[in-house]
Amino acid sequence: MKSFEDLGLTEDTLKVLKRKGYEEPTPIQAKTIPVILAGEKDIVGQAQTGTGKTAAFGLPILELLRENVKNVQALVLAPTRELAIQVAEEINSLKGKKKLSIVPIYGGQSIDMQLRSLKKGVDVVVGTPGRIIDHLERRTLRLGEISFLVLDEADEMLNMGFLEDVTKILENTNPDKRTMMFSATMPREIMRIAERHMGDYELMGVQKGNLTVSQTDQIYFEVSPSDKFEALCRIIDIEESFYGLIFCRTKIDAETVANHLIDRGYDADALHGDLSQGQREKILNKFRKRQVNILVATDVAARGIDVRDLTHVINYALPQDPESYVHRIGRTGRAGKEGTAITFVTPEEYRKLQYIKKSAKTDIRRATLPKVKDVINTKKQRIKSELAEIVNSKLQDNYLEMSRDLLSGNSPDEILAALLQYAFHGEFDEKSYTEIEDVTSVDNKGRTRLFVAKGKKDGLTPKKLVDFIREKCGVREDKIKGIQVLEKFSFVTLPFHEAEMLLEHFRKTKKGRWPLITRAKEGKKK
Ligand code: AMP
Repeated sequence: MKSFEDLGLTEDTLKVLKRKGYEEPTPIQAKTIPVILAGEKDIVGQAQTGTGKTAAFGLPILELLRENVKNVQALVLAPTRELAIQVAEEINSLKGKKKLSIVPIYGGQSIDMQLRSLKKGVDVVVGTPGRIIDHLERRTLRLGEISFLVLDEADEMLNMGFLEDVTKILENTNPDKRTMMFSATMPREIMRIAERHMGDYELMGVQKGNLTVSQTDQIYFEVSPSDKFEALCRIIDIEESFYGLIFCRTKIDAETVANHLIDRGYDADALHGDLSQGQREKILNKFRKRQVNILVATDVAARGIDVRDLTHVINYALPQDPESYVHRIGRTGRAGKEGTAITFVTPEEYRKLQYIKKSAKTDIRRATLPKVKDVINTKKQRIKSELAEIVNSKLQDNYLEMSRDLLSGNSPDEILAALLQYAFHGEFDEKSYTEIEDVTSVDNKGRTRLFVAKGKKDGLTPKKLVDFIREKCGVREDKIKGIQVLEKFSFVTLPFHEAEMLLEHFRKTKKGRWPLITRAKEGKKK
């Protein structure tokens, strides 16, 4: 397996990746980064969203771009506004100390604002085809001296009817640029674009092995990202003897989850690539001996762990690809014992789960999270039956003696209650659990994602955004979800009815101008 160090990236970039918690390149990154850095061939890459393809082209492009260049150096075309924003944010987060300006340009945002940033000079434009054409026609964007052109989610762009626009944009660029096209599928039209508009290109697929899934019971829960931890606790608490691996995407996430679990009183530990061999062995030994029954790990760190009889594998974060899903869950249900694989899916990731299901040819059932009441009842039942078992076995004399002593001065119910309280302090308290938002009952129709044309640079914070929405339309705070405040704009999710109220308010107040809040055009893709 290749490491980021093997791919020819600079020290600065390696530092950025370390900070972001990326431990090793994803397959598409391992393939494309060296080829792009080598500076010769164009690339046609078959990769889904979620495989790390943004960094696959973003990292080498950032390495190769120069600072203080007057013209646009790279253009990334993406099918939807949300993808354009996400891609621009991801590239921005990877650029390190390099002075480069990366700007998303998409329909729906005010043209004036875009004109201003284009005038100031932009190195990387991430845009949707329609709006890029607008700017080309107004001559406010020149693409005659670009070094890189990326077509992201090319098949989606074709599905959305952008073939003509894309072709036109391609014709407005200089022939000596390097072109990279990424697409989940490779229909004939895609290959035709490659033949017509690209130079000598290399076709890169991410190899699909033969996927087989064990007999593990596989379920998924739909949860919003902020509720994942609470969901995890409920799952662990309702199990009689949880012994499981929890997969996170980055080592930072793994550590955070493990630390939260420890804070809440669980015996957990984190396993990630930054540990020395000695530390790793120590943690694994504790896990094997069940001194620690929860291990939170990244894919890389979990590789090669030979621990048997896990009751659970939990995908706290969706795996990168179907292969990795199969690999992860293959760790339960070994040696004839049954195991459960649980996957957390945020509403935005639903499509990716379907893809994993299909590719891994496996059935992953939807399930509902246990309710707090049920978790607490199960705990109580468990204690009752464990106590009964102890009573049935021989009780030790010194305990019996102490018991008689205690009973002489108190009533049996009182002293037993006191003992339970002493032993299970706070364990049956509903308040120690928090509410989990029911995202299963609100489908795409039920909730509306809204786009807010203000972001961090306008001084917006999640709290200010919530206060603002509350003030404008009296929407209850607990109905405002999925708040994402980015540099120049933000997103928020509201129930259908509330969203309509808010949209109506802004439609009315901003006649003739783009309203501050509009419907986010496309659903988030990940
Ligand atoms: P993408 O396919 O580009 O949409 O990326 C999917 C997600 O994976 C994004 O949230 C990235 O931040 C994350 N990601 C990309 N590369 C890596 C990596 N090498 N290790 C861990 N996470 C990554």
